[in-house]
Amino acid sequence: MITRTSPSCQTENTVIRVAEVKSWQQLLSDSTLTLAELLQQLNISTADFATSIDGDPDISPQDFPIRAPAPFINRMVKGDINDPLLRQVLPLVKEHELTPGYTADPLHESNFNNTPGLIHKYRSRALLIVTKACAIHCRYCFRRHFPYEDNQPSRAMWAEALDYLQQHPEINEVIYSGGDPLASSNAQLSWLNQHIAAIPHIKTLRIHSRLPVVLPQRIDPGLLEILQQWPGKKVVVIHSNHANELDASVKNAIDKLKAIGVTVLNQTVLLKGINDSATALVELSERLFEIGVLPYYLHLLDTVSGAAHFAISDNDAKAIMGEVTARLPGYLVPRLVREEADKTSKTPILPTL
Ligand code: SF4
Repeated sequence: MITRTSPSCQTENTVIRVAEVKSWQQLLSDSTLTLAELLQQLNISTADFATSIDGDPDISPQDFPIRAPAPFINRMVKGDINDPLLRQVLPLVKEHELTPGYTADPLHESNFNNTPGLIHKYRSRALLIVTKACAIHCRYCFRRHFPYEDNQPSRAMWAEALDYLQQHPEINEVIYSGGDPLASSNAQLSWLNQHIAAIPHIKTLRIHSRLPVVLPQRIDPGLLEILQQWPGKKVVVIHSNHANELDASVKNAIDKLKAIGVTVLNQTVLLKGINDSATALVELSERLFEIGVLPYYLHLLDTVSGAAHFAISDNDAKAIMGEVTARLPGYLVPRLVREEADKTSKTPILPTL
């Protein structure tokens, strides 16, 4: 039977209890890594897969293992095999199906990755692969096959990336990505920040991270101090796909970021079975606004192999966004976009109005 309690109340209590005894590093290293462990925590049995909207689970995904931290699991609805948070991390047998058009590197990032750890695709922005680690393994991730082993610069190897930034004055914004950049230690981020801040034409630091949502304990005093020391503009783009992800502990983390002058935006991926309705997206935008975050992008799924079961057709996406646009004030409507390989900006997809 599905136990449907208020996600925010239930999770707030749970998270506070967990956070009292565990640091974010402990929570990260204690993440759930097996399907059996995950299902057991959610009171789901293999018989429940009969009602799964997407088929059988992959008991032991080798190439992209299961990973989810306790604070995120605590927000899932117990007993519900189709819970929208669970489905983002649930490995399925169908991930192994070959789908035409779905590839290991759908955005051709390897074409822009001449310097280890750095991707320069858009003129004024450069992206640094700060770490390969993530706090959560999202099954739709477009970098699930990324060659991280070739992109783990040591501090000595960072010299090449820093030199590249130095040599390209058209770059005024550095984006920390990964993996999840906030899975790095404060010491590593501090080192990197100091070196990048010394490059005069870099004005803005942007961090793309799912950690403020899935492990909000990561926004610790050390990190806030590091961000506070950044001399220019600072932006954190969180990644939330569903309103149930955003409980009181996430709001608390966002409040801390905003208190030191960070602009906080959200990006979402449009995912079948998770948020592919106007109601789900309206609720997400409204909840984001409640916690002080503005919706930024709604991405169409990147065509990465293993993720085809999350795809929404363009026509359906446009129709959903038409309804979202009619129901929300303009400032809460994210821009529906597709990222296309080798294009110099994201491609806007206009809603059907
Ligand atoms: S890089 Fe982002 S989307 Fe991909 S698995 Fe990590 S947290 Fe999820």
